[in-house]
Amino acid sequence: MNWECVNCGQYNSLGDCCENCASQECDRCHKPIELDEDIGVEQVYGEIDNFGAHLHEFYDGAWRVHLECLTPAEKILYDKIEEDES
Ligand SMILES: [Zn+2]
Ligand SMILES: [Zn+2]
Repeated sequence: MNWECVNCGQYNSLGDCCENCASQECDRCHKPIELDEDIGVEQVYGEIDNFGAHLHEFYDGAWRVHLECLTPAEKILYDKIEEDES
């Protein structure tokens, strides 16, 4: 069975998202991110920012990044949110 990827239109055997599009890539260094090792904006700034707006991406337009690809300022915020949750 061949599926057409909804993202890139390539035919593949995986489903409506091909292997390429399903694998996460860091938006800053463009290397693959292991499952569960990706950091999203909500893990840094929380679900909602100070003005009550829902954040969907980092200030530079990145969606998913490595922990080590966070800026020092973002890393501080990330550690703080992790602390608050535990
Ligand atoms: Zn695809
Ligand atoms: Zn990265």
